[in-house]
Amino acid sequence: MVNKQQVVIIGGGILGLAIAHYLQTSGQAQVQLFERGELGAGTTSQAAALLTRARSSDNSASMVHETHTVMRTLEQRFNMPFAQRSGCLHIAVHDDERQQQQRYAQQAQQLDVATQWLDSAAIRRLLPWLAVNADSRALYYPDDGHADPYTLAQLYARSARAAGAQIITHCAVSRLESQGGVFTGVHLASGECIRADSIVLAAGPWSAALASDYDIALAMAPVRSHYWITNHQPQVRADQPMAIIPSAKAYFRSEHSALLFGVRDSQCCVADPRALPDDIHSFHFADDANGWLALEEHWQTLQALCPLLESAQLAHYLSGVSSYTPDAKPLLGRVGENVFVATGCSGAGIAFSAGIGRLLSEQILDKPTFVAADEFSPARFAGMQPAADPLSADFRQYCAHARSGKSTG
Ligand SMILES: Cc1cc2nc3c(=O)[nH]c(=O)nc-3n(C[C@H](O)[C@H](O)[C@H](O)COP(=O)(O)OP(=O)(O)OC[C@H]3O[C@@H](n4cnc5c(N)ncnc54)[C@H](O)[C@@H]3O)c2cc1C
Repeated sequence: MVNKQQVVIIGGGILGLAIAHYLQTSGQAQVQLFERGELGAGTTSQAAALLTRARSSDNSASMVHETHTVMRTLEQRFNMPFAQRSGCLHIAVHDDERQQQQRYAQQAQQLDVATQWLDSAAIRRLLPWLAVNADSRALYYPDDGHADPYTLAQLYARSARAAGAQIITHCAVSRLESQGGVFTGVHLASGECIRADSIVLAAGPWSAALASDYDIALAMAPVRSHYWITNHQPQVRADQPMAIIPSAKAYFRSEHSALLFGVRDSQCCVADPRALPDDIHSFHFADDANGWLALEEHWQTLQALCPLLESAQLAHYLSGVSSYTPDAKPLLGRVGENVFVATGCSGAGIAFSAGIGRLLSEQILDKPTFVAADEFSPARFAGMQPAADPLSADFRQYCAHARSGKSTG
């Protein structure tokens, strides 16, 4: 009989659940996952959930590719098709954006992902509500899309449970148990102590405050991500592709017959991780709580790009928390003896989820990893200035700038 590694996962968001799926289905680990609320109801439930394959590095692209592959498998296995694969256009106006497009096209080719080049007339045919310049060019990924993040999280959970994982909700982890510098388990809020060979911290934006109790400084900060959804628009259809427009720092996708759009602020709102309440939906950033300043900053550009916004009503506004790192890449891997972390997804945790599940599972089980893990190592910011300390306001501001500069999905 295989001697299974006992793994405790803290947090039942999309990352904790994806890791549980990979570990438990490997047959080499027995997972116990503790979630203090409901599964997938934290920041996972706030995502716009663009699953764009074009990424700033080949390793990141491979991570997203893994998510698309696993999502199809889960949809078939549980007979629950839920992803909207209507494609994605990356629209370039400037030379540097065209060069970036070329790199994306090569990346896609390496992964055997289909792409096509589109001129402005073809862009207009696919997205009649988008006003692009005559010299605009798009790299089109016909198989990209978005997916309800809550449902994806539930399918990871179903798969992990079916393989024997124990996934326990309404059960908070209050602290880690450490003996002589080695972490040996976790204490639950009920007082019970659970022994573990390995512990995975996948507690979303709350991870930084929890880790800081053990002098583990996670190089990330809770930064605002936000988007708006219009009322019903006759020109918008659910099967239209998403559009990423780096020159405008904006993205658009249909939400049924409404239009969902987001912008990257030049001045980001950032919070102290210790100030986050357990119920993330009750949290408001201190500045620009309703997003009006950000919208005002981008309004002219947005209207020029998408003239229907002139008359559309903004039916919904969602302001949520994303965990940003200085280089906008996640923090994945070992942070102490027997302790691993999976967080800091910088607005891409849904897209990266299966890739992260696979990578963490391989690291915990001490197997060769399917992508080079160094790029995501939590130790990569050692020695940086300002020091990578999530409890320092200077460092948090630095992370906020990573969001302002982000141009991929
Ligand atoms: C507005 C917005 C738009 C976004 N758009 C996209 C997008 O288009 N594409 C994309 O890929 N990503 C997007 N994201 C990012 C994505 O939502 C996150 O990267 C992802 O959900 C992070 O998942 P997580 O599992 O780390 O965190 P969470 O979902 O927050 O899960 C962490 C869980 O840990 C639990 N927890 C915390 N502390 C404890 C404890 N002590 N004991 C037990 N449980 C605990 C919490 O209750 C929570 O359920 C967006 C985010 C926002 C806010």
